[in-house]
Amino acid sequence: MELATRIYQVTPSITLAIDSKAKAMGAAGIDICSFSAGEPDFNTPEHIKSAAQQALEEGKTRYGPAAGEPKLRELIAEKLNRDNRLPFQPENIIVTNGGKQSLFNLMMALINPGDEVIIPAPYWLSYPEMVYLAGGVPVIVPTTAATGYRITPAQLKAAITPRTKLFVLNSPSNPTGMIYPPDEIRALAEVVIAADIWVVSDEIYEKIRYDGLEHLSIGAVSEAAFQHTIVSSGFAKAYAMTGWRVGYLAGPLELIKATTTVQGHSTSNVCTFAQYGAMAALSGSQDCVAVMLEAFAKRREVMVSLLSGISGLGIVKPTGAFYAYVNISQTGLGSLEFAERLLDEKQVALIPGKAFGTDDHIRLSYATDVTTIERGLERLADFVRGLV
Ligand SMILES: *Cc1c(COP(=O)(O)O)cnc(C)c1O
Repeated sequence: MELATRIYQVTPSITLAIDSKAKAMGAAGIDICSFSAGEPDFNTPEHIKSAAQQALEEGKTRYGPAAGEPKLRELIAEKLNRDNRLPFQPENIIVTNGGKQSLFNLMMALINPGDEVIIPAPYWLSYPEMVYLAGGVPVIVPTTAATGYRITPAQLKAAITPRTKLFVLNSPSNPTGMIYPPDEIRALAEVVIAADIWVVSDEIYEKIRYDGLEHLSIGAVSEAAFQHTIVSSGFAKAYAMTGWRVGYLAGPLELIKATTTVQGHSTSNVCTFAQYGAMAALSGSQDCVAVMLEAFAKRREVMVSLLSGISGLGIVKPTGAFYAYVNISQTGLGSLEFAERLLDEKQVALIPGKAFGTDDHIRLSYATDVTTIERGLERLADFVRGLV
């Protein structure tokens, strides 16, 4: 069968493949320790679920405006003003089927064939594929542990060409767990402004930060920075709402109108009653976020201290999100072989770094209980001892 050319340019999700193999082994009764999850292991907070239930009862079950429920757009704009010092109005917001669709809509609305999109590696695996689907050219800029896997302003500047349209910034980062400090954000903003390119700031892990670190949105740096900034975010990670599929994109009116056209001809509005849950997430108490954060913080300590005790592995302590990104180059294995053998020989599931553009790394999610972390890391230590 001859499929569309664009399909041959994209790679199916490696993370989903490993995850489904691990799940199948688990279903067959095999004792698996899994660190592959890209989502919180908590249930959605009660008050958010009840708001959606109430919306269902009240008959909020019909088509809504493609750009989202007006009240939700208002609450999102308020949140961006209050928490992030980003002066967006409700009309600058489109509610999307998760942060993933918000980025997809953006690529469809902004990227022309041949346009270059700068993506620092390690990257969230969907960024380059979305650029390909839009006909653009991902320009991957490798970073190293020495700079905390963060792109430097000099690297960004060097990657910019006359074809550059967009720079993708993700802080806190999936997969590295790194947060860009405010001074680095300011320096990156200067490069963006000087080159007159767009930056999309993926802030989906904004609430998941440790050690009291600050989150500075690049659009809050200055009026000029704001004029170049598009923000993508969502409810999945902070409020344990991955399956709800509610996210948003914030940007200039012209862009938001264009993405609304894309959405209007593809998915239409996000599930109406799910949007009522998202409203409750924003307008209700934020204690639930703090409770989950505290649990993640404890697990991070256990994860990092156990990983640091395994000789042959390299780790930079993560400061955000719920991932540990580990250098495995001393083991001599590529990440795919490492992940496959670890699953077969020790029944431990994790994600090969190849999925994120770095084949000499693995990603472990600590969105799981402490006992699993302790048992799984003992198995990992065993496995690595047999290699180095
Ligand atoms: C999870 C995630 C998203 C979007 O998730 P949705 O479930 O679509 O809201 C976006 N960016 C990164 C880096 C993520 O890890």
